[in-house]
Amino acid sequence: MARQFFVGGNFKMNPVSRQAKAALAKTLNKADLDPATEVVVAPPAIYLLPLKDILRKDVKVSAQNCYFKDSGAFTGEISPKQLVDSEIPYVILGHSERRTLFHETSELVATKTRAALDSSLSVILCIGETLQEREADQTAKVCQTQLKAVVEVLKESDWSKIVIAYEPVWAIGTGKVATSSQAQEAHADIRAYLSKAVSPAVAETTRIIYGGSVTAANCKELSTKPDVDGFLVGGASLKPEFVDIINAKL
Ligand code: PGA
Repeated sequence: MARQFFVGGNFKMNPVSRQAKAALAKTLNKADLDPATEVVVAPPAIYLLPLKDILRKDVKVSAQNCYFKDSGAFTGEISPKQLVDSEIPYVILGHSERRTLFHETSELVATKTRAALDSSLSVILCIGETLQEREADQTAKVCQTQLKAVVEVLKESDWSKIVIAYEPVWAIGTGKVATSSQAQEAHADIRAYLSKAVSPAVAETTRIIYGGSVTAANCKELSTKPDVDGFLVGGASLKPEFVDIINAKL
């Protein structure tokens, strides 16, 4: 079975007004989107429900993070159960900004992933190496170490609810996109690892998307690579060109 192309928009801590949020929804609502592509947008938590209410129903909404407890004294956090109750189907976990700025370890990301799946959320699981690690030829090793923590807490059947986002840290928000062969090589290594660490069937069916300075100008070339199953888009998801990225396969 072919893997369905997946394009996610990670708005991060943007936009800064409800009006701008509505304008983003309007752009998507009036666009012709490739019906073969799964589209998910991840606004800041405060806009999750209002955005979902005004957005076309074939575009799903995702949280950018969640905690691993159902409820309790965890100031500032949102639980997987609350997301599910609000009919939010996806959550992004392990984004490099969470790992670096908020000191999230691979173990915490794995614990959150387990909790999200236990609440029946789907997870966009982000992994990727820094520039220093790439230059030291550690890309595959770093991705495997980050994935291993998650592999250890999942069952084989859990993987149908995971989308892996390979996001080299040096490419995020820098304008320095990975070349299509760099992306293909990293994705093929991740798939080979999944085959060994989980199963060949999971490796074959799990979507591995690329993130890091994806734009309308570079998405088509990246999308031709056999192991690139879509994109996680930051900056460009706030612009009209996000529609062209969603339609990269057309
Ligand atoms: P970018 O961000 O497209 O702005 O590089 C990607 C991401 O962080 O998911």
